[in-house]
Amino acid sequence: MSRTVLYGGTFNPIHRGHLNICLRAREAVEADEVLLMPAAQPPHKFAGWLAPDQDRLALCRLAVQGQDFLRVSDYEIRRGGRSYTVDTLRYLLAERPGEELWLLIGTDMFLTFTQWREWEEIGRMATLLVASREEGDREALVGQQLLLAGHGVRSQLLQNPPLPMSSTQIRRELGETGGSEQLAPQVLDYIRQRGLYLHPPEDVEYLREYIRPLMTEYRYRHSLGVERQAVRMARWYGADVHKAAVAGILHDICKDMPKGALLQNVLESDIINGIDFRTSPQLLHSYAGALYLQSHMDIHDPEIIGAVRYHTTGRAGMNLLETIIYLADLTSEDREYGDVEEMRRLCREDLRGAMVHALTYIVGELTAKNRTICPDTIAACGEYGVTIPKP
Ligand code: ATP
Repeated sequence: MSRTVLYGGTFNPIHRGHLNICLRAREAVEADEVLLMPAAQPPHKFAGWLAPDQDRLALCRLAVQGQDFLRVSDYEIRRGGRSYTVDTLRYLLAERPGEELWLLIGTDMFLTFTQWREWEEIGRMATLLVASREEGDREALVGQQLLLAGHGVRSQLLQNPPLPMSSTQIRRELGETGGSEQLAPQVLDYIRQRGLYLHPPEDVEYLREYIRPLMTEYRYRHSLGVERQAVRMARWYGADVHKAAVAGILHDICKDMPKGALLQNVLESDIINGIDFRTSPQLLHSYAGALYLQSHMDIHDPEIIGAVRYHTTGRAGMNLLETIIYLADLTSEDREYGDVEEMRRLCREDLRGAMVHALTYIVGELTAKNRTICPDTIAACGEYGVTIPKP
């Protein structure tokens, strides 16, 4: 029977501590293979600034070069959405029936194991192999081992001298100095080439590059157009120009992403707000975008998050930045509809008039097409005195 060690994580970026425990794990259980699996979106923690999936995968592939027993799998990234280990183990067992599976995890993950989705089921499918992360954490590990054993979850502690380092610490180091001794040279070269982790999360030039591979060329040009229009409007009305640029660039970040994974993220969050995304799929990307900024990009500014979240629907009580992004989306250079020039004039001269005009047009269109008007848009109409036509 062959023996595989599954090793999941964000690997953001992959460092010497990760590679070290792969080697130890292979020796300890005489594994045929250690399967390194970067998560699409970690369910257990807030990821901070998460480099794009394809970059984290590329970094893992570079890091394992020359180590035949180590294989990188893109399964969780292809699956998208939150990466639950229980689903991955089910998939592996279905693919390789009869295989002996081990799950490699570090101290932090082991101590919070009972918070994982279907953790007892995980314990039925695999034995946990636990790597110590720093001196002095063994006592806690042994205690947890006993507790889990009471639920039938088997575990074994690796006899590894801990290498106390984390990706969080390395990202900080990269941001401050542009380098880190904890990374393989080929990993560091790639990071420098792609400019990963070297910028603060809201660096506008970096964000323009970041979104490019996530969307079509058409959407990319639209996003930069919205950025420019939002910046103009922020100057006219005394809003924060930097926030306007960031929200403008990012407002459609999820628009071209696969809908299934977005829907899963949104349904698992508390952001739904009475909307049925199955009947109003065109609203999904703005809600998913607001979540993505927080989970993948370490952007938490409530004004930027709100501007992305409400850019399709509007809402009652919109603040200045939300209003600007809502209108900039309709009046960027790439927009071509009958009275776009009139809308642009209103945006320049009469913000309230522009909102009335935009809402009137949008609810008219939705009604004509017999589409559901979401509660936030109805509330915005109420506030601006816009009457919703009868179907
Ligand atoms: P971050 O700092 O971004 O949280 P991390 O360094 O903890 O990242 P992950 O990709 O989240 O790295 O870790 C994947 C797995 O590897 C987890 O089970 C984690 O506990 C374990 N791990 C990470 N770093 C070490 C280390 N230095 N020694 C032992 N295990 C580690």
